[in-house]
Amino acid sequence: MPIYWGDIHNHCGISYGYGTLENALANAQKQLDVCAVTGHAMWPDMPDDRENFGFVIDFHKKGFAKLAADWENTQTEVEQANRPGEFVTFHSYEIHSSAFGDHHVLSPKPCPILPADSPADLHEKLTPYNAMVIPHHVAYRQGYRGINWDAYDPARGAVVEIYSKHGCGLTERSPYNYLHTMGPRDSRSTVVWGLQQGKRFGFAGSTDHHAGFPGSYGDGRVAIVADRLSRPAIMAAIRSRRTYCVTGDKIVLDFRVGKAMFGEEASIEGPRPIRFTLRGSDAFERVVLYKNGLPWRWYSPLDLKGPAGNGRFKVRVELGWGRDAEPYAWKASVALKGGKLLGAEPCFRGRSILAPRPGDPDYTEANDLDNEIEGRSADGIQWRCMSFANISTQHSATSAMILEIEGDEATELACVVNAQRFAHSIGDLLRGGRVHYEMPFASEAVVVHRAVPAAEYDVSGQVEDAADLAPGDFYFLEAIQFNGQCAWSSPIWALK
Ligand SMILES: [Zn+2]
Repeated sequence: MPIYWGDIHNHCGISYGYGTLENALANAQKQLDVCAVTGHAMWPDMPDDRENFGFVIDFHKKGFAKLAADWENTQTEVEQANRPGEFVTFHSYEIHSSAFGDHHVLSPKPCPILPADSPADLHEKLTPYNAMVIPHHVAYRQGYRGINWDAYDPARGAVVEIYSKHGCGLTERSPYNYLHTMGPRDSRSTVVWGLQQGKRFGFAGSTDHHAGFPGSYGDGRVAIVADRLSRPAIMAAIRSRRTYCVTGDKIVLDFRVGKAMFGEEASIEGPRPIRFTLRGSDAFERVVLYKNGLPWRWYSPLDLKGPAGNGRFKVRVELGWGRDAEPYAWKASVALKGGKLLGAEPCFRGRSILAPRPGDPDYTEANDLDNEIEGRSADGIQWRCMSFANISTQHSATSAMILEIEGDEATELACVVNAQRFAHSIGDLLRGGRVHYEMPFASEAVVVHRAVPAAEYDVSGQVEDAADLAPGDFYFLEAIQFNGQCAWSSPIWALK
């Protein structure tokens, strides 16, 4: 079954984010197959301490009212963007909850905004619409909009958003710590804690972007294994937990215990083979197999080497840096000499905004960004994209295109990037990446990264677990590339 890529929780100017819904849906289609743009709708137990939180209370109230006032038009636009087989949309809004944690609605049909006291109450009220109510940024402490696992019922949504712009909530040691103003991760709110309480749910990722750029690279995406691209098929796949989470790169993942696929519960008897295959966008730095929430097998690049000499390479062309707060426009092309372009994966980003801040400029057009693949053939690719100055020395805002190339050491990449021309052979790039600047100092720059041979991104592993399983035991897989991009499979459980 094919894999479809989605972002089912992100925001724009329909509530208290920035950018138009029209641009958000257009941006989504450049990298995704499935999208739900989410409006902020309610916060039944919002704090009322105006002295300390006046700004926060006001922007929430204004955002909720804005969403409600234009909800009919929003639903119409979302409905019109839904084109089965090409691009599938869902209706979505969000309930904040200090007591139970924030949740977002995913509805296959238009549905009214129904005031509710809690996520459970909202799910109940949405019964006629067959909607899911899915928790996100779960790892905040309980009471501070993190999840309350005791009150969580997987029947309401089947999956949990484990990664977004907020960070990764899988374990308290996972990469991508929570650094937002809402606070740190608490171990008792993490995803693994919930699984260890016996809750059974799949893994999803979404950006929670607030400037109208669903699927913004690096901020979270969900991979959905479905038999076709339609609302019913995607809903059925999510309900069956045939999903996994990636941070950005479209890592292709398969993970099985015996005959069971990720997301499934199965009667798993006797010594059982555990197998995974991964097709990354960069070399894998480590793959960790978790059993009952703890690392059980740990694979280094030395353990992971795939078959050598098959003449396929991945090369990432990354554009960005510089000092300017405004988006920087790039026009780029790569022509291949003595090689063939097998695939191209864009890594486009939106403006990095997670919540309104006092003094924000008018960002109505925040998501009017020019990212486009202009042409692509076996001989090469041409594209336009926009990058931003990096947000800090820890937080990238670059843009990129990942090329998969069939060739050999003599294959040449002839590049034209804005006014510059340069060429590198695969042989040179196997020794390391090359940098080109736009201007003599501290300017925007391009990296043609180190070429990665298929043996380092097309990998697999197999191990046997001979131990007796207790009912409820579970496994999941974590895959981390050298560029920091990750994938986390939904768990596989032994039947109760
Ligand atoms: Zn949100």
